[in-house]
Amino acid sequence: ATSARKSLTIGLIPADGIGREVLPAARTALEAVGSDIPPLKFVDLLAGFELFTRTGTALPDETVESLQNECDCALFGSVSSPSRKVAGYSSPIVGLRKKLDLYANIRPVLSVAPTPDEPAKVDMIVVRENTECLVSRAIPNPATLIYTGFLSSSILSKKSKKSQKRAKKLGQRVSLQNMLHHESAAWHSNSPFNVLAKWHLTIIHKSNVLSVTDGLFRESVRAVHAKEPKYQDISVAEQLVDSAVYRLFREPEIYDVMVAPNLYGDILSDAAAALVGSLGVVPSVNSGDNFVMGEPVHGSAPDIVGQNIANPIASIRSAALMLRHLGYAKGADRIDAAVDSVIREGTLLTPDLGGKSKTSEVVDAIVKRI
Ligand code: ATP
Ligand code: MG
Repeated sequence: ATSARKSLTIGLIPADGIGREVLPAARTALEAVGSDIPPLKFVDLLAGFELFTRTGTALPDETVESLQNECDCALFGSVSSPSRKVAGYSSPIVGLRKKLDLYANIRPVLSVAPTPDEPAKVDMIVVRENTECLVSRAIPNPATLIYTGFLSSSILSKKSKKSQKRAKKLGQRVSLQNMLHHESAAWHSNSPFNVLAKWHLTIIHKSNVLSVTDGLFRESVRAVHAKEPKYQDISVAEQLVDSAVYRLFREPEIYDVMVAPNLYGDILSDAAAALVGSLGVVPSVNSGDNFVMGEPVHGSAPDIVGQNIANPIASIRSAALMLRHLGYAKGADRIDAAVDSVIREGTLLTPDLGGKSKTSEVVDAIVKRI
């Protein structure tokens, strides 16, 4: 299907804050790729808290409909959701993840080695459950808190008829593990350790205290792993979230792929970002079975907005990751190699990485190398 695509229509949702400064950078990088990917079409789409304050709507129907009917994929910037509750407002990114059923957020955290031949010191993928957990605002009944991508039939059989029906539908696409396989293999295509037998999955939870929810999460991952012969070459370990943060800081090299409930995944990936220099370099994709949306891991960064100093790399890498996910590994490799070379060279970096350059200068340098 990938090679048959005549063009690629990409929805662009900059939303708030530095999202508006870094998303255009991702577009520029994609446009520089040229060959290796189909001709690109971009559709500008609205969402965000600022839009809500002007119009009363944070996520217009037109945006969702365009993504569903017109776009092959999308890129999202960042939202400035307020800390206090605002009547009528709910986060458009949380809404989009649910409406498009993007049940996994895949966050590769990779340091750039001083030379291309050396292995990266930090090289892990955080897979964050993306539509449920405490982050989900509209939980009608805690008993229905089920983990979409992670279901096992033994657990489902204990639930009510209605949730069994829903779960059955969801269970048919217990494809998170599939995606893990796919994403890991793709992301590491240049790695000397590209042997699936070496994959190591760590389940992050706190099921000694939260036995119902985190216990379900943990059991579900284990059940999916046990059921599928093709996953037997992936080793599985588990760790309590607090000790995982501690070990992440002391020995990041022990982690390969972490799979975590929504809230822990968010926190762990911000922590992991500190190990690779900045939140401004860590990309992600929101992924389901039918759609993929790239999004930098960072937020709207109100403290640096409007100064042309936001690091565009997380967004540019998110565009590459989106391409990779769609099967355009060559195009993605070109973007990633350009980014790595700019980081290695070290003369054109934004302040978060210790440099003095502007966003636009970094974008120019990356585009030249692409
Ligand atoms: P959210 O709730 O939306 O996740 P947050 O409170 O986690 O937001 P961020 O916006 O992610 O906050 O910012 C955290 C810190 O990292 C801020 O000091 C911000 O300036 C910095 N930061 C985030 N993204 C970038 C970037 N692209 N370039 C430079 N600094 C960044
Ligand atoms: Mg954050």
